[in-house]
Amino acid sequence: MTMDGKRVIELINKINVKMNDNKEYLTELDAAIGDGDHGLNMSKGFNAVVDKLKDDDGENIGNILKKSGMALVSNVGGASGPLYGTAFMKGAIEVNGKSDININDFLNVLKAGLQGIKQRGKAVYGEKTMIDALEPAIKAMEESINNGDDPKIVLKNGKYAAEEGVNYTKTIKATKGRASYLGDRSIGHQDAGATSCLYILETIYEEI
Ligand code: ADP
Ligand code: MG
Repeated sequence: MTMDGKRVIELINKINVKMNDNKEYLTELDAAIGDGDHGLNMSKGFNAVVDKLKDDDGENIGNILKKSGMALVSNVGGASGPLYGTAFMKGAIEVNGKSDININDFLNVLKAGLQGIKQRGKAVYGEKTMIDALEPAIKAMEESINNGDDPKIVLKNGKYAAEEGVNYTKTIKATKGRASYLGDRSIGHQDAGATSCLYILETIYEEI
């Protein structure tokens, strides 16, 4: 299974729809332990991404991801903008010049993206952030690829692991981001950024 640039842009459009559909919910989650703008940030950010990709010819998938990352960084005020933006820009380097990508390329994009998020935000797994969804998803996908699973199964396993990661965020204390100001009071609440990260992976799984 490979995917061309036009399809990548289509998927990004679907991610935008998902963010807009879940804007209120993401904001609700962020309101409980943050400042209640995560839904707004994600919808504003991905609206800008879609706008920026409107006239893209789809020839270079690296370029598509780079433009997306730049739009996220420059249009989102919250922490999530620079973090997701960095992830897209780091991922872009992995597929620069490619007009088609396969599941291995996609995994490399996610890995580079995670590394970018960690570098930029100085967080690790278990601090109640988007990393708690992304890192287990990457691990599950890598394992699944090594088992020789079909790409659709690989994406499904990634999505399930991200779901588990989101549930895990409910059980732990935030030690990074705004929610960390609440200390123990952040326990019991689901992290908004881990949830938006799940939405991205879920959309890709559903659309493939
Ligand atoms: P802000 O916190 O500036 O209002 P958002 O509400 O858009 O920005 O995003 C909050 C989300 O960002 C959190 O739910 C968390 O998942 C993620 N986040 C915050 N800080 C970090 C960090 N240092 N590393 C990784 N993710 C982080
Ligand atoms: Mg916020």
